[in-house]
Amino acid sequence: MTITETGVPLFALGRGADPDSERGVDCPGELPPASDPALVERARVAKERLGDRLFVLGHHYQRDEVIQFADVTGDSFKLAREAAARPGAEYIVFCGVHFMAESADILTADSQKVVLPDLAAGCSMADMATFDQVEECWEVLEDAGADRVVPITYMNSSADIKAFCGRNGGAVCTSSNAERALTWAFEQGQQVLFLPDQHLGRNTAVLELGLSLDDCVVYNPHRPNGGLTDEQLKNAKMILWQGHCSVHGRFSPAAVDEFRERIPGVNILVHPECRHEVVTKADFVGSTEYIIRTVREAPEGSAWAIGTELNLVKRLAGMFPGKSVSFLDKTVCFCSTMNRIDLPHLVWALESLADGKVVNQITVDPETTHWAKVALDRMLALP
Ligand code: SF4
Repeated sequence: MTITETGVPLFALGRGADPDSERGVDCPGELPPASDPALVERARVAKERLGDRLFVLGHHYQRDEVIQFADVTGDSFKLAREAAARPGAEYIVFCGVHFMAESADILTADSQKVVLPDLAAGCSMADMATFDQVEECWEVLEDAGADRVVPITYMNSSADIKAFCGRNGGAVCTSSNAERALTWAFEQGQQVLFLPDQHLGRNTAVLELGLSLDDCVVYNPHRPNGGLTDEQLKNAKMILWQGHCSVHGRFSPAAVDEFRERIPGVNILVHPECRHEVVTKADFVGSTEYIIRTVREAPEGSAWAIGTELNLVKRLAGMFPGKSVSFLDKTVCFCSTMNRIDLPHLVWALESLADGKVVNQITVDPETTHWAKVALDRMLALP
């Protein structure tokens, strides 16, 4: 096992990790070989056999070979709501990652079964905040005298972190409503603990709420007291959890400069999970849905360099051939866990369901569901 800089152990994907965490675990079952030329037809037939009993959700970062079988595509929150709006579907097959399937299970009826075609499809960002670490941080904050803190978690977190926020007066947010969630949080308390993505928290606080970088501190769960003094913990407006997305964290200010030099007039469009120094150099910043809308509405002939997951950028380039759409990095950078869901896993999951066998079901226990839903409902009630 390798230990990363943040102290989070990296398990070899797909092999023997903790089944209760976001990390990769064994995927049981006889998968058809990826080279099977009949895979597309097999997926189509299995889907047809299941009919209205099945609803397939596809996240924007999924491979094209998988997306073609999605009944609806979207970001994680849109997909969870789409699932909730289909009470007639017995099986929800979620082509995305583990925390998304958990959210779908939280928002759907007990009778509906949510299936993740490969259990190794976790999320490294969600892994960076475990329940025990967050509980410990809460105690550290209390001991430091920071007693009016509101916890806000990004959608990209495990169900038990969402439940923690629900139980402690906080809420969930997405990259589309982070500003409204933070405004609400500052009306409830004096400080915000933002989990688990430091970049979304910092970018929203500084660029949308007008706070300064000095108002933000980064809590490192692997250091005593988060690596901060009691004074720092008490005085900061934003206590940012030291987590990040391994995909969006790769984009650099140097890449922005290179694109501007190479393509005069290029528009730099990035996701707020990117680092602050990248976001401040960009022309447009927004969620996955915002990125899609912006490119769709852009004039023909315009040029775009986009800082988000590569499957989506490639798809946008194909959808809009009259616009120049490039990936804002020299290196190929897919989300490796999103990419775990491939056609063999999808075929295996669909054929198993069609044969009456539920595989890889994702379930969240009732207590966690209750409190996570409290946090999600607070988000839905945001003005
Ligand atoms: S793109 Fe980043 S946040 Fe999204 S699933 Fe992959 S690692 Fe997690």
